[in-house]
Amino acid sequence: MKITVIGGGIMGSGIGQVAAQAGFDVTIVDVSEEGLDRAKTSIAASLEKFESKKKIQSAAEVLSRIQFSSEWDSVEQADAVIEAVPEKLELKKQVFEKLDRLAGEDCLLASNTSTLSITAIAGATSRPEKVIGMHFFSPVPMMALLELVKGYQTSEETYEKAKQLGEQLGKRLITAEKDYPGFLMNRIWLPMVNEACFALMEGVGTAEEIDQGFIDGYGHKMGPLRTIDMAGIDTTLWAMESLYEGFGDPKYRPCPILKKMVEAGDLGKKTGKGFYTYEGGVKEDAKRVVV
Ligand code: NAD
Repeated sequence: MKITVIGGGIMGSGIGQVAAQAGFDVTIVDVSEEGLDRAKTSIAASLEKFESKKKIQSAAEVLSRIQFSSEWDSVEQADAVIEAVPEKLELKKQVFEKLDRLAGEDCLLASNTSTLSITAIAGATSRPEKVIGMHFFSPVPMMALLELVKGYQTSEETYEKAKQLGEQLGKRLITAEKDYPGFLMNRIWLPMVNEACFALMEGVGTAEEIDQGFIDGYGHKMGPLRTIDMAGIDTTLWAMESLYEGFGDPKYRPCPILKKMVEAGDLGKKTGKGFYTYEGGVKEDAKRVVV
């Protein structure tokens, strides 16, 4: 089975890796050569860790199943395409318009969107019944969960195909039966991390204290601010904006701190600086954010 992943960032590289580990032939497509290089480096590093922990036999063998490309030819032969480009509706619609022109008629078309309408994304194609949300969690090779999201027109056949693919990828599945912004998980998770940002902005506590509280008080492995540093401050802001626009409810108003950080280019671990600073992937020290 052949899988093409569109977008080789944090999520696309993780999805591509997991698909290659499951034995699929994978192509990761990205507009940026730098992005493709980064994807290859991060996948190779992750596979080496898995190999040293004896979770896979050969990192080189898994890596050899992944092609990295700025061309879209692989879409024509793909059995499934999973889109993981930035959380912007217009961009995702353009990607799906193009997929609709290139993909074979039996190809499963999936979006890894965190919050956006699967129905609207599917509407950019002439085959909305074949489009579904496959929402993975980061880091994809470590997180068991896959949230399937049914768009308004997603067919039962498409849902069954996506379910089977998710199981082949070794994921545990939950399903959002209705296509509301943020689906099941992010509708609940994002307002909470947004509130953590407001608490920080209002000076109620430091980033370290907020995060420590979640670890010691609620048993989380990582606090909310550290988690969104990993996910990307830009991705978190856009996802929050999508909830706000999608529901039209002020309770989803994105915290201004997120906007300021994106304007400043502090996007979290991927740029080395977010709520914390990072060097070589290691948290160095807490950074107080001044709005
Ligand atoms: P990212 O910024 O790390 O990666 C996006 C990649 O897409 C970049 O490498 C970029 O060069 C590439 N890209 C942009 N336009 C493109 C195009 N037209 N064609 C091909 N590639 C293109 O973002 P990410 O964190 O991987 O997020 C991707 C999607 O996954 C978003 O919809 C996001 O909401 C969702 N998501 C993210 C997380 C997370 O924790 N980061 C979790 C679940 C879902």
